Amino acid sequence: MIVTRFAPSPTGYLHLGHAYAALFAYEAGEKFVLRIEDIDRARCRAEYLDAIYEDLAWLRIKWDPAEVLIQSEHIEDYQKALKKLDDMGLIYRCYCTRKQIKEEAARIGGAPHEGETVIYSGKCRNLGLKDDTRDYSLRLDVGKAIALIGRDLYFDDVRFGKIKANPSRFGDVILGRKDCPASYYLASVIDDARQGITLVTRGEDLLAATDIQVLLQALLGLETPLYHHHKLILDEKGKRLAKRADAFALYKFRQEGLAPDDIRKILVL
Ligand code: GLU
Ligand code: ZN
Repeated sequence: MIVTRFAPSPTGYLHLGHAYAALFAYEAGEKFVLRIEDIDRARCRAEYLDAIYEDLAWLRIKWDPAEVLIQSEHIEDYQKALKKLDDMGLIYRCYCTRKQIKEEAARIGGAPHEGETVIYSGKCRNLGLKDDTRDYSLRLDVGKAIALIGRDLYFDDVRFGKIKANPSRFGDVILGRKDCPASYYLASVIDDARQGITLVTRGEDLLAATDIQVLLQALLGLETPLYHHHKLILDEKGKRLAKRADAFALYKFRQEGLAPDDIRKILVL
């Protein structure tokens, strides 16, 4: 059975891009599950969560409420996985601030352009320091992890075919912080497995993130599902709809009297 999921974060109202992703997942699977990615507590709001349920129901998407996975209720699972990776010697504490990382990257190469991910140099990798009074991030020693796996990693994408993962593309990624138990990379991999997802559908902007996720799956002994990275819905200027693209918010279309079929038509589904 093909199991798909939609995994929004309640950090804003759902817009047309989300509607496309949700309907895409809904139509691609034989079973559809919902997951609320609300680990970043500072940015999540209860009213956005209510709106997610309301918007999806309005789109005539059906899901089992008993199977909705709320990530903030499963923190121990992410911590257990982090501990496991730490026991494998793959996690280290990084005490660098965002500003320091930017400055260091600027010194080494050119100035990072806006929107570009600054690749962390691995400066704290061999500090061996455990200083709990300062803020820190927990980073994955990606080089060591790749060496431990000892083989090339691949995943299959319905649209792009067989892809060889390049897990070091973002350097030593952050898997947790002192004040935040798990990053998106880690939590989504654990939950895709827990929810029995066989086909992960999502926007093509996350294609590169999959390289990290297949590495985490290999390290944690989880199966790699099939992926389908679909196109993104763009605005009339060809720009992607930003998270707070209020002009495209679904509740506004609803208030203006549009029907869910109108949304399907707009999205050419
Ligand atoms: N919460 C993520 C987002 O809204 C989901 C990403 C995914 O589908 O893996 O971008
Ligand atoms: Zn550091």
